[in-house]
Amino acid sequence: MKINILPLLRGEKDNIPFCFTDDMRGFSPDITEGSYKAEGKVKNFSGYMLLEGEVQAEFFATCGRCSKSTKQILKARVSRPVAQTLTQEDDDYIIASENGELDIREALEEAVFMEIPVRFLCKEDCKGLCPKCGADLNNTSCSCVEDKTDPRLAKLREYLNNLEE
Ligand SMILES: [Zn+2]
Ligand SMILES: [Zn+2]
Repeated sequence: MKINILPLLRGEKDNIPFCFTDDMRGFSPDITEGSYKAEGKVKNFSGYMLLEGEVQAEFFATCGRCSKSTKQILKARVSRPVAQTLTQEDDDYIIASENGELDIREALEEAVFMEIPVRFLCKEDCKGLCPKCGADLNNTSCSCVEDKTDPRLAKLREYLNNLEE
């Protein structure tokens, strides 16, 4: 997503709005479908330019414990200074090209990446699948679980569950 900020640089406008949507699938292999919407402005405060935006995403992702497809909502905010030329080393700046083109996609996608968890969960306390028979322990208790009445195994299971947390 490139926007032309020449009117800002020339002082013809004091802000340039943008709005675009794109696919969410590139953010994680666990995301199966969905998109994000980025909306905001590049503002000029008497020579100091700032990109301010908000990203909202709605998508489906695979639960990291039970593999069920689960609907997720994500929000991210972006606020980054903009410059036409970089006078000092500062990674925070987004740099406009000489003809006034500013590529804002990377800054917005970075903000989304920050909000992507290591794994998605269908719910906080998802019990996951039985490692033995694959039954969804959220809906059913399989016989493998009933087998584990041995107190030593229960202890071990507790220990493993804690490790997982
Ligand atoms: Zn789950
Ligand atoms: Zn089982």
